[in-house]
Formats: sequence, C-alpha cells, structure tokens
Amino acid sequence: MDQSVTKLSEPPWVWPRAAYVHVPFCAHHCGYCDFAVVAGRDDQIGPYLDALRAELSTLGRPEPVRTLFIGGGTPSHLRGRHLQRLLRMVREALPLEADDGQPEFSVEANPDDIDDQTVSILADYGVSRVSLGVQSFQPHLLRVLERRHDPAQVPRAVERLRRHIREVSLDLIFGVPGQTPADWADDLRRAIALPIDHVSTYGLTYEKGTRLWKERARGRLIPLSEEAELQLYEQAIDTLEAAGLEQYEISNFARPGHRSRHNQTYWANEAYFGFGLGAARYVRFRRERNTRSLSLYLRTCLAGGSPTVEAEELVPDERAKETLAVQLRRVQGIDRQRFREQTGFDLDDLAGPAIARAVELGLLEDRGEVVRLTRRGRCVADAVITTLL
Ligand code: SF4
Repeated sequence: MDQSVTKLSEPPWVWPRAAYVHVPFCAHHCGYCDFAVVAGRDDQIGPYLDALRAELSTLGRPEPVRTLFIGGGTPSHLRGRHLQRLLRMVREALPLEADDGQPEFSVEANPDDIDDQTVSILADYGVSRVSLGVQSFQPHLLRVLERRHDPAQVPRAVERLRRHIREVSLDLIFGVPGQTPADWADDLRRAIALPIDHVSTYGLTYEKGTRLWKERARGRLIPLSEEAELQLYEQAIDTLEAAGLEQYEISNFARPGHRSRHNQTYWANEAYFGFGLGAARYVRFRRERNTRSLSLYLRTCLAGGSPTVEAEELVPDERAKETLAVQLRRVQGIDRQRFREQTGFDLDDLAGPAIARAVELGLLEDRGEVVRLTRRGRCVADAVITTLL
C-alpha cells in the first residue's frame, strides 16, 4: 500500500496533519524572550535556509498537512528573496491540503516589518493568517519589554495585511512592570478598534537567564502582584468578549470561525512536525527537540545529520495525563468519549476524585460528557491542572 495512505489513515494524534517551522532571526533580542533566537546575525540567513532545506529533505517526499505555522524569532525579518525562498521550500516539502478546502498557513510578523513588498510575497505564497507581535501600544511598556516598534506602525501594518491576507491576529502582553489597568484598557481598546479576527494575550513571565529575570533578581524591576495580574486578565476576558472575540483557550480569543486551527493541534495534544532551530515535534508518541545552537544546527544539517538533541517516547499513562493537561486549557474542555478514544484511558479513572473536588470548589464544571474550567477556574488554570495530575 502507498506509504502516505497508511500514515494518513492513522488518527491525527498519531501522525501529524500540522507542521511548525522556526525562523530564529530577530533585529534585536528583547529582554523577556527566551525563544531560540539570534540577533545581529543576518549573514547566517542564507546558510540557515540551506540547513532548513536539508532538514526538510529528511521527510523523503512531500508530506501533506492541514496547517502550517512559521514562527520565530521573527519570520518577517527575512526580506525579498530570502522570504520567497523560505516560503517556497516550506510549501514544497509540506503541501497544504484540507478536507474542508480551508488550509491554514500562518506566519508570525513584527509590525515594523510589514511593508507592501512583504505583504505581497506572503500573499503570493498562500499565507492565510498573520500573527502580529504588538505586545503593547504604550511606549513606556514597550521600552520595558525592549520592543522597538512604534505603536503608530500597528494600524498601518494591519491595514496593509487586511488587503491581501484572510486573517490577522494580534499578540498582547499583560503584567508588565509599571502597567496600570488604564494602560491595559487602552491597549485592549486600540486592539479591538482594528479590523482583526483574533487576539492572544499572554501574562509576562520571567524566564531564567533573560535580562528581565536578571533585573528582577537585582531588585531593579518590581513585578506586578498576582492580584494585579489577575485583574488585568479578567479585564481582558470582559473587554474582548464584549467586542465579539470569544475566549476559546486560556490565552486566546477569536471572532466566530477564526480560531487558530494550528494551535488547536497543540491543545488537543495531537501530533505535529517541527523543523528549524530549537523546534519541537511530536510524531507517533515521540517528543523530540532540535538543538538551540545555531552553529550546531548548521553543521549537522548541512552534513546530512540530525539536529535532534532531546527525544522522549511517552508511555500511554504519560500521554493520557498530558492530554488532560492541555485539553483543559480549551474553553470547550475535555470530551470524555473523545478522551477515551484518543488515550485509551477513562478520564474518571485518571482523575475522578480530583475532578469532583474541583467541581465543588467551583473551578470545574462537569456536564456529563464534557468537563471544563469555569471562569474562576480559568483564572487559576495552572493550579487546577496541577491538582488534577
Ligand atoms: S520577543 Fe519576538 S522579536 Fe523579541 S527576541 Fe523574542 S522572538 Fe525576537
């Protein structure tokens, strides 16, 4: 039998229908970021694309997917022929096919990179969704985050994108030192005034080793209290939902029909491919991660080797617990029957008493076939998930 037919007869939690490709280049390394990024190394873009091509060629043959996501780093930092080369090689190795005729091709971008040429290249290669790293409209908070764009560039970027790209999403960060509820209200107001379909709102985290983490450790930067952060989170839920952007995951809001299909793969705990520096993949229950060292990535891929440096085969029990943890992040929650089908475990055998306790505390809602977080539960989701595990 044709090998590709065999793979696609496997369910989506076994064989991927989604692929992530990482582009690590950035104009500048922001103080809070601990992604696999390189700043000030644009001379390495050409060799990186050669190495990425080599890694993609290990697929052996084109592998059809329903969703493609190019993230970073800053994919839009690539200009003209580099951007074209990237999009061409990704489309060739991972052709987009969707049963409903609506494949999703997302690219992350920074507002200051969005000019007419970039938008036209993205549209020519079938990009259907752009996720813009806005983070804040407040100059003083952008300074704390070390983001370099000017807030006035955001409406111009959205307007340019809207002319050719089907969906536009904005990323916003809350919990930045010095941020007030009035700052956040202004950010949310300015976001929803734009013609966008989707908003992701992330609470600022202090990742070990980042400049922000060091500043906090030295006492030069005072983080917001947990209560203040929670207030900002609730403010986001109220404002975005009132504007017609429905919450569908702890950090994500969309107009009807505009949820990120790619990210829903992660929250369903389904399989995905991953290529590029530091990229993770989950294929046939095996989790792998590539090296975060640019020189090692280039050397190994260009020599025909594998850039994978971490690999873990998940046993059924671990898979079931992981599935519980990520599916609970979705506002739709966990469907007991689908959970059984996907993991082979009964949700109640795994966490029945803990679910009952969380229901009593008003943190979970048990509707029979579906278990999901209540609004109160969403505000303390990490703690609820930990107790269930
Ligand atoms: S936050 Fe975004 S733009 Fe800043 S360094 Fe990280 S990936 Fe690059």
